Amino acid sequence: MSDYQYLILGGGMTADAAAHGIRELDPDGTIGLIGSETDPPYNRPPLSKGLWKGDAVESIWRKTGETGVDLMLGRTATAIDPDRHQVTDDLGEVHGYGKLLIATGASPRRLPFGDSSVIYYRTVADFRRLHAIAARHGSVVVIGGGFIGSEIAAALTLNGVTVTMLFPEDAIGARLYPADLAQSVTAYYRDKGVDVRPGEEVVQIEQHERHAVVTTKSGARIIADVVVAGVGVQPNVALATAAGIAAEDGILIDDHLMTARHDVYAAGDVARFMVPELGRRMRVEHEDNALTMGRAAGRAMAGDKAVYHHLPFFYSDLFDLGYEAVGETDPRLETVADWITPFREGVVYYLHEGRVRGVLLWGIFGQVDAARALIAEAGPFTAGTLHDRIKATP
Ligand code: NAD
Repeated sequence: MSDYQYLILGGGMTADAAAHGIRELDPDGTIGLIGSETDPPYNRPPLSKGLWKGDAVESIWRKTGETGVDLMLGRTATAIDPDRHQVTDDLGEVHGYGKLLIATGASPRRLPFGDSSVIYYRTVADFRRLHAIAARHGSVVVIGGGFIGSEIAAALTLNGVTVTMLFPEDAIGARLYPADLAQSVTAYYRDKGVDVRPGEEVVQIEQHERHAVVTTKSGARIIADVVVAGVGVQPNVALATAAGIAAEDGILIDDHLMTARHDVYAAGDVARFMVPELGRRMRVEHEDNALTMGRAAGRAMAGDKAVYHHLPFFYSDLFDLGYEAVGETDPRLETVADWITPFREGVVYYLHEGRVRGVLLWGIFGQVDAARALIAEAGPFTAGTLHDRIKATP
């Protein structure tokens, strides 16, 4: 049995940030990390962005080794015993801990068509597989019109791949952007050569030796070299719930990032935390959340008593379009768009009862703090008072 002062479950960006956070306060405490992937922690955003624009794979690795952490990769934690302060892994090894961090992230939702026929795009191993296929300038069916679908369709098209996009909504990004912006993005993708087919449901995927055939509910049959899916993720909470740790679409944590069990913390995609500005708990699946919460969890485990209070931002690159955003960007809220150039540069505010709940900074960068400050303000706000409230890049 091994024993660590700090044990981290998960090998993603949150886990890496936590190891560095621990080291900010405790230079010597022993740290163990159990991660299912065989690759060490890496930056995930380049998998659907920079690596398709010529960045080298070597540039993605995080410097986890510098923290002196004992990396146990290709291994999966299978049980937590919070009373004994022990974790068991899939080799049957038992690891004792002083403080434990659950940073197990999220797993892609699967479609009911057999895993071998679809790349559920999430890991660097998925990137390697898809990149090798893309190098042959073949064809890809992309299922999903959310973050993965929109970014990977753009990345593949820029790399000379013929892309067909299928998703159930009316337009790309329809769960994020107001309807007119989503339609404009969809038209933009078509101009770039993407065959965008909104309102399509996949009913069958047949995998042949060298190609796949995708059949949709409307009867279309699309032949492609490979199928890539980004149909959402589910937080990996099973380890926690089996140990009696409460989860509701995410492990519930307090404002010191601790779960209901003493000495057990959670952070990143898997954690549901309180956002005082919004008056509710959130679970967030983006880089800033992983890095900021991971670091804070490491510091909290090492004795930092600071209250965690951070409204994370996110961003995306879609061909030459791009944005930063913060808060609740749900188009079912009232939306107010303040365009400088329609659908190219401007701000979309998401309101509920006169308060700003979220801000989408379209083609505008470096204004996330201004957006956070606005979300913290009581208001009430209207289209009139929001006009010119956040201006172009300072
Ligand atoms: P998502 O929630 O962004 O999009 C899911 C999409 O799945 C929906 O838009 C819908 O079009 C589609 N869908 C759902 N059910 C379907 C079905 N049965 N058939 C066809 N399509 C269906 O999730 P994602 O794109 O899979 O992204 C996964 C995770 O990665 C998310 O957590 C996301 O936040 C994260 N991510 C973030 C970024 C970023 O911050 N820029 C980039 C890539 C990925």
